[in-house]
Amino acid sequence: MKNGVNLDIIDKDQVASMEPAVFAIKALFSPTTGIVDTHSLMKRFETNILNNEGQIVYGSEVTGIRKLDHGYEVSLTDSDKKNFSFTSRIIINSAGLTSDKVSEMAGLSDEKLTINFCKGEYFRINPPKTGLLTDLFIPYRILKWKV
Ligand SMILES: Cc1cc2nc3c(=O)[nH]c(=O)nc-3n(C[C@H](O)[C@H](O)[C@H](O)COP(=O)(O)OP(=O)(O)OC[C@H]3O[C@@H](n4cnc5c(N)ncnc54)[C@H](O)[C@@H]3O)c2cc1C
Repeated sequence: MKNGVNLDIIDKDQVASMEPAVFAIKALFSPTTGIVDTHSLMKRFETNILNNEGQIVYGSEVTGIRKLDHGYEVSLTDSDKKNFSFTSRIIINSAGLTSDKVSEMAGLSDEKLTINFCKGEYFRINPPKTGLLTDLFIPYRILKWKV
């Protein structure tokens, strides 16, 4: 894909060879997708930051970003509506669904940074069919379970 993520549309024969229990006319195959325990991962990140003399500011909203000669000034409002700011040489924007707004604050309003929302569906496979799928699987349209 354009953003560098490896994602392939596979046909029904490829689906059948990868997931014999599924008959689908097409599927999205994402070989680099995985499942992480997000709580443990965040806890580890937090510990690493604190062990390296970093500081974490919770409950505060970034409200503005000003470009400086050698970095940025970031303005925030905390949960008591108090304003504060800090400067940083680099910013990593991980604001999720509003990351485009944060980019705009920094003066980055490139068309490539626009978020295009699309809806997905999660399915849970209940016993006794739990073991039928071997991998994370995004069916385009499952026609039927073979078993
Ligand atoms: C109901 C639901 C179920 C899901 N289940 C799964 C699942 O089972 N497996 C899976 O892989 N994915 C799942 N996802 C998707 C997954 O949650 C997202 O892909 C993932 O959280 C995105 O991570 P992120 O860090 O990019 O953004 P987020 O997790 O959205 O984090 C962005 C953070 O930035 C903060 N923020 C935004 N703007 C500002 C600002 N101006 N100032 C300060 N902070 C700001 C937000 O408060 C938020 O905390 C699910 C999503 C939903 C909604």
